Amino acid sequence: MDTGLTGRTALVCAASKGLGRACAMALAREGVAVTITARGAEALEQTAADIRNQTGATVTIVAGDITTEAGRAAALAACPNPDILVNNAGGPPPGDFRNWERDDWIKALDANMLTPIALIKATVDGMIERKFGRIVNITSGSVKSPIPTLGMSNGARAGLTGFVAGLARQVARHNVTINGLLPGPFLTDRLRTTNAAAAAKAGRSVEEEIAARATNSPAGRVGDPAEFGDACVFLCAASSGFIVGQNLLLDGGAFNSMLG
Ligand code: NAP
Repeated sequence: MDTGLTGRTALVCAASKGLGRACAMALAREGVAVTITARGAEALEQTAADIRNQTGATVTIVAGDITTEAGRAAALAACPNPDILVNNAGGPPPGDFRNWERDDWIKALDANMLTPIALIKATVDGMIERKFGRIVNITSGSVKSPIPTLGMSNGARAGLTGFVAGLARQVARHNVTINGLLPGPFLTDRLRTTNAAAAAKAGRSVEEEIAARATNSPAGRVGDPAEFGDACVFLCAASSGFIVGQNLLLDGGAFNSMLG
């Protein structure tokens, strides 16, 4: 498949590790110049070097917290007119909603709903003018099948998903698409963190916990971040302009349904 992405530019948020990194790597492989962000500069520099070495693409790094106004301003200063925007940030912690105060909720909403919306607002009109834009929101399988212990994630991501469902239909005629990628379990630091409590409760290591969970999945394994990156490329391809407002679940078949 010729993705037609050579020479395009992408802003990939929260991309020094895990799924964001995989998206940046996969886009770079298609000839996209990527700007990647994360808070920690060291891992970000390492990832930029890896992407350059493996793809030869131009990589710009912006160290900062994408959930803050300053972090977003820095990212947009480095990449003011991206053809592709991949929205991503860390996920909220698990827990019991009785222990969450307003500030906890605001943090989750900022990270997983309001930051993507702010970045879309800053970039979508340029995409409309240029008649090309691909916006991919990394959300979670929890948007489709809520994870009880991740209540703040369920809520904030559902809010983003609902908002973009409408916006996607307003911008599609300009060859600007907005779609969601919904990860099930992918082998990243985040998966290790979210499995730590269950592992401790079961008296086994995090690796054992993840392996046990994988056995129960129809695919019999957890996802490889590289697979996620390739799905991102597919949604961003020049020929994907007719894929509008969709939410693509990548969970190895864990969500049991006839219609996706
Ligand atoms: P990860 O491996 O922990 O990587 C997170 C990346 O985001 C890191 O590069 C991190 O770098 C960066 N980051 C985190 N908070 C940031 C912030 N405020 N500003 C800028 N960069 C930030 O996580 P992941 O597994 O790739 O997960 C990505 C998203 O998918 C998360 O929202 C997660 O909840 C969701 N998700 C993941 C899975 C899974 O199985 N992996 C499943 C469902 C949903 P710094 O820490 O240096 O900033």
